[in-house]
Amino acid sequence: ALHPSAALQRISPSPTLAVTSRVLELKRQGIEVIGLGAGEPDFDTPDFVKDAAIEAIRAGKTKYTNVDGTAELKASIVAKFARDNHLTYTPDQISVNVGGKHTLFNAIVASVEAGDEVVIPAPYWVSYPDVVQFAGGTPVFAVAGADTNYKLSPEALDAAITPRTRWVILNSPSNPTGAAYTHAELEALGEVLRRHPNVWIFADDMYEHIVYDDFRFATIAQVCPDLYERTLTVNGCSKAYAMTGWRIGFAGGAPWLIKAMAKLQSQSTSNPCSIAQAAAVAALNGPQDFLKERAAAFQRRRDLVVGMLSEIDGVTCPKPEGAFYVYPSLPGLIGRTTPKGRRIDTDEDFVGYLLDDARVAAVHGAAFGLSPAMRISYATSDELLREACARIQSACADLR
Ligand code: PLP
Repeated sequence: ALHPSAALQRISPSPTLAVTSRVLELKRQGIEVIGLGAGEPDFDTPDFVKDAAIEAIRAGKTKYTNVDGTAELKASIVAKFARDNHLTYTPDQISVNVGGKHTLFNAIVASVEAGDEVVIPAPYWVSYPDVVQFAGGTPVFAVAGADTNYKLSPEALDAAITPRTRWVILNSPSNPTGAAYTHAELEALGEVLRRHPNVWIFADDMYEHIVYDDFRFATIAQVCPDLYERTLTVNGCSKAYAMTGWRIGFAGGAPWLIKAMAKLQSQSTSNPCSIAQAAAVAALNGPQDFLKERAAAFQRRRDLVVGMLSEIDGVTCPKPEGAFYVYPSLPGLIGRTTPKGRRIDTDEDFVGYLLDDARVAAVHGAAFGLSPAMRISYATSDELLREACARIQSACADLR
């Protein structure tokens, strides 16, 4: 009889999307909830990008395109990597996919098989382990806890690598912690990777443009040119240009891998939406100065949230370098009891309490592989953030 496949049974639905739909459901019931679960900028897609999409429709750019991206978009991506990252790629080294998640899926499914290991620093973006498992590979978690500001140490990386390691995933700035690696920190990780010539590096730079306090973003292929050949540098339009719904992700890397990804894509989604590709060309080629203004707005919110959460007894909130998440660690809250007499045994219990009693939605740390903690997305208005943090403060004060 027909039944869910073994590959399907190795994965779970995205827990972050689950929180988002729970919030929508509560709102539908007329219950007022502040949702801090979603991973997308609250800013709108810039008008010049929208205009380019409308223009593309009128110009008839509404047909199939080259499977892994139009020549025009690949040229814009080549220029982006040169401009922002000092990386030289040719168009045959560029893959365009249906969002960054699809870039991950293509790269891993095209190259990982049973018995292969992929090193994933924890806490991690929820899709990494599931995509590896879908491919039949084994995720190997390397702890990057609050004590190292959620950054992977060279020692922890070295300890996680075995003869079966195919990939190491580096995500900077990180979802869920906002931690970003400095030039020197990448150099130190590169030193370890140099000693393991068979290991490839998946550099997920999706939050590149959302960094604070004059932090200088760097990516590993740029910092360690000798690792360029075995690095897939991944980026996209979703977070930088507030284009999550348009679904454009991309990568630069070895031609054989890019070709393998295109082969998989040719038998699954085919090309990313032609109109979204035209919009992505406009986003990448257009003015880039608004990125800094938006990052400044996010920085204000980070400071607000880190400040208010740090006042809570039992909560430690490292100050992130980028992205729009904080990942407060909650050791002091475990074992306490809510006013209704429920014991908080896990971070999932705690976020359940926050949702039920404080009407604030966050995602429990267990979903990202490091507990007890929670992820808060501060991509919402200052006013809502202040209210949400005040509610979290009083919910924590109510615990016995
Ligand atoms: N990489 C990271 C670290 C992310 O947080 C996300 C989105 O949440 C993505 C990649 C993929 O983004 P998208 O598929 O929306 O382009």
